[in-house]
Amino acid sequence: MNLDEQEIRALFEENYEFLKVEGGHVVTDFVKEQAFQQVLWYWKKNRAIAERVTETEVHLVLPECRSPESGIRYSLEGVVDIVREGEETWMYDLKTPERAAIEANLDSYRAQLNVYAHIYKGLRGNELDNCALISTALPQGLKAAIRSGSAEGMERELAGWDPVIPLGYSEEEVEAMIEDFGRTVEAIEAGRFEAPPPSRLKEKEEGERNIFAWKTCRNCDIRFSCPSFRAHVRGEGGNSSFRRWLDDYGSESSPEDFIDGNLREEE
Ligand code: SF4
Repeated sequence: MNLDEQEIRALFEENYEFLKVEGGHVVTDFVKEQAFQQVLWYWKKNRAIAERVTETEVHLVLPECRSPESGIRYSLEGVVDIVREGEETWMYDLKTPERAAIEANLDSYRAQLNVYAHIYKGLRGNELDNCALISTALPQGLKAAIRSGSAEGMERELAGWDPVIPLGYSEEEVEAMIEDFGRTVEAIEAGRFEAPPPSRLKEKEEGERNIFAWKTCRNCDIRFSCPSFRAHVRGEGGNSSFRRWLDDYGSESSPEDFIDGNLREEE
């Protein structure tokens, strides 16, 4: 498949129109252009893998799981891509955080992929040699180079971008992971939804640019009734600050990207 930028733009527009009709969501031109740039540069970097995908959007289901204490029945589901390369078969899962943020939580990602591998290989009887994550987020350096329009900078940043994180595959952690999911199911069924303490909302994960409140809470549907979020916002500037947050309906892009984008438009 030898797509040029114009063809990718046409496919992107077609897909956007479809999603608009199906989901009823519309985004600003700025956010739409950011999304297109992400698709375009993702394709430039990962084209070799994308062209070798042998099974795409493979839907994996582990039915009839039982939670460890109450025996509640639940199913685990996931969607992955499968690539056969010569003698080897790899399973890929796409993740939106930047590589550094993924690497800071590698154990939980590995455990999740091991469960998918267990379903694909152990239960379905397919060949599988390795698992890997692909970070779809464009690195900050590449974003800056795109904004500056420097062809040399873009080439350099693209060459230095390594979005594939091999994880290996082990059956050992599968049972523990399924049990962990089961405990989460039990907490949900029992209505135990404790928010983290307000101090957690000020923290920044390794590799992340934004604190938890900006990155996660800002897009959380229950933030206005969450005591930790309210405490965090009041701590930032009292009740007037909370009123300001009440008018904030979340971000489609990070605040820094939005500011950068608008500064550029002013230039
Ligand atoms: S606002 Fe949502 S994400 Fe943030 S602490 Fe509360 S429940 Fe968790």
